[in-house]
Amino acid sequence: MTDTGKITALVYGECLDGKLRRVALEALGAARRLAGDGGAVHAVVVGGGPGAALREAAAELAARGAEVVHVVDDPALAGFAPEAYAAAIGAAVDAAGASVIVLGHTAAGRELAPRVAARLGAGHVADVTAVEPPGDGRAASAVLTRPLYAGKAFEQRRLLPGARQVVTVRPNNLPAAEPVAAGAEGAVAALPYAAPPLWTVVRGIARKAGGTVDLAEADVIVAGGRGVRSAEGFAPLAELAAVLGGAVGASRGACDAGYCDYALQIGQTGKTVTPKLYIACGISGAIQHLAGMSQSRVIVAINKDPDAPIFGVADYGIVGDLFEVVPELTAQFRRMLANPGA
Ligand code: FAD
Repeated sequence: MTDTGKITALVYGECLDGKLRRVALEALGAARRLAGDGGAVHAVVVGGGPGAALREAAAELAARGAEVVHVVDDPALAGFAPEAYAAAIGAAVDAAGASVIVLGHTAAGRELAPRVAARLGAGHVADVTAVEPPGDGRAASAVLTRPLYAGKAFEQRRLLPGARQVVTVRPNNLPAAEPVAAGAEGAVAALPYAAPPLWTVVRGIARKAGGTVDLAEADVIVAGGRGVRSAEGFAPLAELAAVLGGAVGASRGACDAGYCDYALQIGQTGKTVTPKLYIACGISGAIQHLAGMSQSRVIVAINKDPDAPIFGVADYGIVGDLFEVVPELTAQFRRMLANPGA
C-alpha cells in the first residue's frame, strides 16, 4: 500500500520445466483484482542458467497486465532452492514497493509463501479460491475466500488497508489474467540478485510420477480407486485421460494397494484438485477422498455399488463395472472429439 492508499501487488511467476505455469496467470488475474483500478501490479520471475525461458515467461506476464516484470536470473537460482527463491522474491517486493504478494498454491508456492511472509513480517492467506475486488459489494477493501475443514466451510478475509499480505491462490479456481491491448504491455527489467547465506542446498529434484498433464492444473482428471484392482487396471483410465487431455489421479486406497504412486493421491492427505471434470472410477467416496476433489466443477462417478457414498457428491452417476464403462466412454469421447460437429 502506498501513501495514497493504492495497493501495489507482486505476482510470483512460477515456471515449471522452463514454462510459465497457468496458475501464475491466475495469480496475476487475482492480483489485478486485489489491486483494483487505481493499484499497480508487478511480477517477478526467478531462475538461472542459459536459455530464453525466463524472458519468455516475463514477456507473457507483461502482455497480461503486469506493469513491470522483474527478472532475477542468476546461476545460483538454476535449481529450485526455497531460501534463495524467497530472497529473490523479497528483492522484487522491495523493488516494486509491494504490499500484497500473490503466488500459486502449488508445492513451490506453499514452500515459498510462509518464508516470504516471515521475511516481510506480513500476514499470510493460503489457498484462496475467490477474490472480490475493493469497492465491490459490501466491502471497500478486497475480500479473499478460502475453504476450511476440507471444503465444508468457507472463510472470508478482508485485506485491510496498509496491511502486508502474502496470498496463495488455488490452481484452477480463478480466471487467468487476459492479455492487455497491444502497446499496453508492461516493462521487463533485470533485478540484481545478492545470494544470501543458505542453510539448505537442493542438489536435485526427483520426479516420481510423470504424466504429461499436471494433476493440480488439469481440467480433466480420471481417478481410480481400489476397484481398479491392479496397476494394469489403470491402463483404461490412462487411455480415457489421454483422449480427454487430462491427468490420472488415485484414491489412497489405490496407492496403499500399490497400484500407483502416492504422487497421484487425491484427498485430505494427498492433493487438492478442482478440475472442470472429475471422473471417479471404483472409488467409494470416503470423506478423506472427498476432501480433495469435492469442489470439482462436474463429478462423474462410476461404481458397481449403487449405495457407494461417492454418488452423494456426483453430478452424474454410472452404476456399473468400470472395466466395461471406462472403455465405452473412451470410445464415445474419441468418436465425438474426432467429429465435433456430428
Ligand atoms: P474402497 O473404499 O475399497 O472402495 C472401492 C470401491 O470400488 C467400492 O465402492 C467398490 O464398490 C468399487 N468397485 C470395486 N470394483 C469395481 C468395479 N469393477 N467397477 C466399479 N466399481 C468397483 N483416502 C483418499 O482417497 N485420499 C486421502 O487423502 C486420504 N487420506 C486419509 C487420511 C486419514 C487420516 C485416513 C484415516 C484415511 C485417509 N484416506 C484417504 C483413506 C480413506 O478413508 C479410504 O480408505 C480410501 O479413500 C478408500 O479408497 P477407495 O475408495 O479406492 O477404496
